[in-house]
Parts: sequence; C-alpha cells; structure tokens
Amino acid sequence: MTSLLLRNIGSLVTNAPDCPGDLGLLENAAVSIRDGVIVWAGPDDEIPVALLRGASIEVDGRAVVPGFVDSHTHLVFGGDRADEFSARLGGASYEEILASGGGIHSTVAATRGASTDDLVAQSSERAHRMLRSGTTTVEIKSGYGLNVTDEIRMLEIAGRVGKQTGIGVMRTFLGAHVPDRGMSEEEYVDAVVEEMLPSAAPHADFCDVFVDRGAFSVESARRIFRAAADHGLTARLHAEQLTHTGAAALAAEVGAASADHLDNATPNDAIALAAAGVVAVVLPGAGFSMRTPQAPARMLWDAGVVLALATDCNPGTSYVESMQFVIALAILEMGLTPDEAVWAATRGGARSLRRDDLGVVRPGAVADLVILDAPSHRHLPYRPGSDLAWKVIKSGEVVQ
Ligand SMILES: [Zn+2]
Repeated sequence: MTSLLLRNIGSLVTNAPDCPGDLGLLENAAVSIRDGVIVWAGPDDEIPVALLRGASIEVDGRAVVPGFVDSHTHLVFGGDRADEFSARLGGASYEEILASGGGIHSTVAATRGASTDDLVAQSSERAHRMLRSGTTTVEIKSGYGLNVTDEIRMLEIAGRVGKQTGIGVMRTFLGAHVPDRGMSEEEYVDAVVEEMLPSAAPHADFCDVFVDRGAFSVESARRIFRAAADHGLTARLHAEQLTHTGAAALAAEVGAASADHLDNATPNDAIALAAAGVVAVVLPGAGFSMRTPQAPARMLWDAGVVLALATDCNPGTSYVESMQFVIALAILEMGLTPDEAVWAATRGGARSLRRDDLGVVRPGAVADLVILDAPSHRHLPYRPGSDLAWKVIKSGEVVQ
C-alpha cells in the first residue's frame, strides 16, 4: 500500500458540493491518499492520527485544485499546419488554403503516412506537456484516418499514449469528421455505420460526429448515433460551430454526453441542452487561434447548462495544450468568473466524460491533483501564459 499526505494547503478546491461554480473551498487543509485514491480531505489540524504515517508533501500555503479534465482533443495527428496558420494571418481565405493543399485533408494524409511508432512518440510528447501543466485526464478523438484501418489505428495509438505517459485517456470514435475524398456524404455514412463503427466500438468510449457545413447533416448524424448506441457508444457532437444546423437540438434528442463548440448556439438551444442534461464543452483556444467570436459561454451558463472547458488541441484551428491557458481565456474572453472556469475545467470536464470519480476531492475519488505555485486558483487568469503547476499528482503518484 502506498500513501501520500498533502499538508498545509493554503486553499483547496474540492468541488465537493457538486454544484456548478461552487468550488467547495477549504483553507488550511490537508488531503490523504491511499493506493491512488483520496481517502480523506479536511482541516490540517484535524488529520486522523492513523493517516499521519507514510510520505507527505509540505504544500506550504499553496493552492491545490483537482487535476484538469481536457474533454475535447484531436491529440493524435501527423504533421503540422504552421504554414496554413501563417497564410491565414496574411489574409488567405479558407478556399485559398484548401487550394494550396492545406486544411483537414492534409492532416489526414500526414497521419496515414506516419508510422505507428512515430505517431505514438509525437502524440506522447504533447500528452506529456499536458500532464506536466496539470491535465490528468484527456479525451482523444480519432478522425484523421477516415477508413477502418486508420481509424482503429488512431484509437489504439490513443490508448498507447495513455500507457506511455500515465495521463488518463478516454477515447472517442470520430470517423464522421469529414467524408473521405472522392466519397459522397451518403456513401461515407454507409461506410461509417456498416464498416467502421462495428470494428472501432471495442476501442472507444464515445462516438462523435462533426455536424456542420462541409461535414455532416443532422440526419446523417442521427443515423450514426443510432448505430453507435447499438454498439454501446454514447454520443458527443461538434455542434453549431461554423453555422447553425440544429445539432444542439439533436444532442438533446439523442441524450448526448456533450455538445461541443456551440459558437452559434441560441437561447433555445441552451434551454434544450439544460433540460436534457447535455454538457456544453466550449473551446476558447479555437476562437482565440482563429480570431473568431467566442461561443456564448456566459449565456449558456446563465441558462443552467452544465459547462466544460477543453483545449480542442488539433493542428488546424487550436494547437493549444494548456488547460491553464484555456481557463484564462474563458475568464478574459468569454466572461466566466474564475470559480466558474476552474469548475468547468475540472468537474465540468468530468461530467462531460460521465466520470463521477474525476474532478472532485472527496473520499473515493481518483487522486488527481495540481499544486499551484500560487496562493489561490484566482492566479490562473491573473497570470496568463505562466505555467503555475508546482507539482502534479496523477492517481496518487507525483509526476513532476
Ligand atoms: Zn474538435
């Protein structure tokens, strides 16, 4: 049995009330961990004597928050699109970028062309940077394979990234990212439902569909989610990002775990998501990197929608790995309060992945914690761009 005791925590975010935005703050606190699980949290001067044995860390007045849960990434990919990013900064249009060989299909080609070992290595480097900056669980999507072999290969690589780095990984099958080149939407959806889903399902927890202009219609997504449910996969969606399509209403209709992006979501969408208990995953790194208006996170929160924050880490529109930076953006660019943003980046992410044991500090929860080199979580938006992770603890092990 391994044990670890954190002593003299200046400010501990527990999220224990499990009420959005209520951080359940404890001051002068301690946390006891046994075999990777939290067994006790409370005032430092009330630690039960039996828990005083074993290793301990003197936190010395610093703040401790639950490990960040990054619930939307495309972490496994080959190549990069820095040239495309520069061209866009120079005023190139989406059509011009596609004509010069950029866009998602260039990432599909680079991913298909890379060896499995190479993809594991470069994806693990990204995951390792995430873990070091406090992300203890990451959701990883496929979607740059677009055929049975390459989609399954991406999901297997995502699993290997978790084993290699120690970061917690949840996997999402995103075969319906865009139709593969040379196929109509209808032909491609047939392939997703009949060939890809049955083979990919054992390697995934969720099924995602990119519902938008140039990707898939609400009708196609409904058909894919019906098939996914037959294979035991819960739905999550890329919804209302570039245009308003009705994808948020579909998320509510099919009982999706999450509706993500939501840049063009309406107040009626918010009512539907709140009523159905669908988590809204907003991705401020994408709006920031693309210099487009941010999703209406404030409106969604005020309508009672449960909110999660994620990086959307991908090579095209948001090559962002840091949840600390995402929290700062959500506060400074979307109008969330620090308490709301920290809740959404921890417990909100866990809710969107349907993991009751993550993003909370209470007995029985996974011991994923970040010790900030600051006295309060409020330093995250106050000092944007600085890595404030002093130590990161994943399943009770100190990883840095
Ligand atoms: Zn995405």
